Amino acid sequence: MTVNAVKAFQKSIKIPVTGVADKNTINLLIKASAVPKASNGKTENQQNTSQVFTFKKGTPGSLSGKIVVIDPGHGFNDPGVTRENVYEKTMTLDMGLRLKRILTEAGAMVIMTRATDGNSGYNSLYYRSAVANKLIVDLEREKLEKENAEFEKQMSNFQNLLISKGAELEKLNSEDREINKQKIDDLTKEIAELTESSDELKEKIDLNKTRIEDLYNMSLTFNYYIEQPSYKERYGIMKNPLEMAKVFELTKEKYNKDIVFVSIHCNSTTAETQTSASGVQVYVQTENDTYYTDYYNNYDYERRKILGMSLLQELNLSTGFSKKYTSLFKSRLSVLRENNLPSVLVEIGFFNNPSDLKIIKDQQQRENASFGMYKGIEKYFEYWKK
Ligand SMILES: [Zn+2]
Repeated sequence: MTVNAVKAFQKSIKIPVTGVADKNTINLLIKASAVPKASNGKTENQQNTSQVFTFKKGTPGSLSGKIVVIDPGHGFNDPGVTRENVYEKTMTLDMGLRLKRILTEAGAMVIMTRATDGNSGYNSLYYRSAVANKLIVDLEREKLEKENAEFEKQMSNFQNLLISKGAELEKLNSEDREINKQKIDDLTKEIAELTESSDELKEKIDLNKTRIEDLYNMSLTFNYYIEQPSYKERYGIMKNPLEMAKVFELTKEKYNKDIVFVSIHCNSTTAETQTSASGVQVYVQTENDTYYTDYYNNYDYERRKILGMSLLQELNLSTGFSKKYTSLFKSRLSVLRENNLPSVLVEIGFFNNPSDLKIIKDQQQRENASFGMYKGIEKYFEYWKK
């Protein structure tokens, strides 16, 4: 390390600039070099020579009990937009993983549609919604399995009671039936009631069993897509409207309060370079889309819009793009259409605007953008507490 490099380091971490690598400086250097390497091989500090990189933190417990599905756009042999050797797929994954770290600190459970570049080819759009849909059917199946385990316990209590009451009745009948008449009548009534309750419970158990099997089969179908991310055959509301409607209704009825789906992308217009294109755009599912009147259209638009606006506002605050959008974009994008969680797609900056790209390439700015998404998600859940 040269004297100038030592000076630069001392300046960057705001300790006296002497150019001498004394014990204190060396200790701080060791600490700084322990910062994880970024995707381009430079440490966080080397990315920002003018200031020290700051990790943003989630507030512990602020999102406990919540689940966030993060969908980093593109991956593997689908790079997305590319400029200056920077790939959209790399930036979306980077921001997705940062968001995961912050959300986990806040106590949320995070599910990534991809946590690496991928190794089995292109991740189809149906694969991405399959991750969300499988989550829903698995949660419901696990709930019913737990419920049935409880029911089975109750059932075995009923059976034991019926056996002992039956034996008691037999004994009374074998003795003096005139003297025991009242007792026999009471016991007979009790046994009849127990039998009725046990029959009702049996019906519930059987109903749950059918439902569990149904959910298990749906889970297998979604899993087929999850295990083969490149599988291009469509499985969605236009191909399998009735099956998908079942999952969508289940999501809306029971699972859209504590779970959200966020797809992360970066933007570009068709022009090679366009300096007027800038900022964060947030997409939500088109309301009452006449194009799809024959298919499912019972999305929870209110939740989607509130999630979208919360993310847009917080992303505008946390990023330094020259343009700030103030309203949402509506679209029938697959990742919004093919699952029924409150779902949004965020486009963070324009690759074909050099000033936007400069921001996207800066790790601190990406950390800030991820923190903005976290704040948006937190704000969304706060909204429903009121
Ligand atoms: Zn994209």
